[in-house]
Amino acid sequence: MAKEKLDVLVIGAGPAGSFAAERLANEGVRVALFDGRPEGEPKACGGGVTSKALKSWPHLLEATGRMIEELELYSPGGKRLHLKLEEPFAIYSRTAFDSYLRERARLAGAHIFNERVTFRPRANEHEEWTVRARGGREWSAPQIVAADGANSPIAKKLAGQLPPAEMEVAFGYRTPLPKADRSAPTVVAFLPGWAGYAWAFPRIDHISFGIATSQDAFDHQSLDNLLWNFMRGYYRMREDPTARLWSSRKRDARLDSQIEAELRRVAERYAARIPGLAPKTWDTRRAAGPGWALIGDAAGFADPVTGEGIYYALRSAEIFSAAYLEGKALDYENRWRADFGHELRRASEMRRRFYGNFWGAPFTERMIEFARTHRGIRKTLGELIAGNQGYTDLKRKLALRALRPL
Ligand SMILES: Cc1cc2nc3c(=O)[nH]c(=O)nc-3n(C[C@H](O)[C@H](O)[C@H](O)COP(=O)(O)OP(=O)(O)OC[C@H]3O[C@@H](n4cnc5c(N)ncnc54)[C@H](O)[C@@H]3O)c2cc1C
Repeated sequence: MAKEKLDVLVIGAGPAGSFAAERLANEGVRVALFDGRPEGEPKACGGGVTSKALKSWPHLLEATGRMIEELELYSPGGKRLHLKLEEPFAIYSRTAFDSYLRERARLAGAHIFNERVTFRPRANEHEEWTVRARGGREWSAPQIVAADGANSPIAKKLAGQLPPAEMEVAFGYRTPLPKADRSAPTVVAFLPGWAGYAWAFPRIDHISFGIATSQDAFDHQSLDNLLWNFMRGYYRMREDPTARLWSSRKRDARLDSQIEAELRRVAERYAARIPGLAPKTWDTRRAAGPGWALIGDAAGFADPVTGEGIYYALRSAEIFSAAYLEGKALDYENRWRADFGHELRRASEMRRRFYGNFWGAPFTERMIEFARTHRGIRKTLGELIAGNQGYTDLKRKLALRALRPL
């Protein structure tokens, strides 16, 4: 079978791949975009997209999602903070979000193939890259872009394998909205005794519950128990306004077992990895070389503290495409580093401190405790959630605002 020749092969049509394909195809580049995900199978993801991302690419608001203007935050000790967000963020079903971005790539002229492809490293720089579908069909191009996610085999071959400790664990359940409750709250709860957080992200027709941890060593069962505890608490509070999220009240036992029995019947489990690169890896791992580039999760571009990756998937796609279109594809390496690489590296250094202690208690406990009474701290927290506040000066800013009058 003859190879089909193109200018660029983009492997993976998640946010990174589709956005890169759209940008390149818009300028007349012949792009092939591949994805082997079975139709209707969503990528495991909370689907939260920060207001920073929505401001950068306002067209994202056209995708069907839910705007979140209020958020409930819980400290590890169970203190609750109701936050009205000055800048709302969006929560998307990843099926809807990914289909929307893929359709834009198609309309821009990218050739889209619903194929899982394998990749053969080329023998030398004069050869083209070739990818192959299961039936034997082949495509080749002088430039390959790996956008095939956190487990990218292409990235392993071209940039080296990441150590297991640099892959964070995230898993969760999709469950029905409680009593068709359109006002089901969006919740983020920092975990008692763990480096990480649990979330409840209501979408249009279901809730995405999940837990993400950057803990180095843990047993999975305890974390799963904690998530079930969180889920029971969430539904319990919808039924009984006096209930608490992390409850140990005897009188909740009956309701809890009913809730759990129902959820166990309907909940769909999902799990996946999120890259969480160590500071040294940010310095040494490359995302580009002659004729190749890694974008999004394949490059390891996710926030090491929160696991947020959609913004970086889109931004890296944008930076790569711009460099390629200028005929300077190799400049992508320096450009992503200058744009967001240094900040993510600093976040990686901050990770332990974010989940560590501050003024004698977990930092996240203090942050929520102070924010409950202090407008300045609430503002900083809102900025953090919006994606406008980095981690580098977070403690300093919180401390400064805490010292200012209310
Ligand atoms: C549980 C969980 C919750 C998360 N929640 C959030 C959140 O709320 N907000 C946020 O910003 N980030 C979140 N993230 C991170 C976010 O999901 C990723 O950072 C983001 O999806 C990265 O986009 P991407 O396009 O690089 O890769 P992906 O979205 O992973 O897309 C890669 C695509 O490549 C395809 N593919 C893989 N191999 C091949 C192949 N050989 N051939 C063809 N196609 C292939 C896959 O089918 C997939 O569609 C979460 C992650 C997890 C695991």
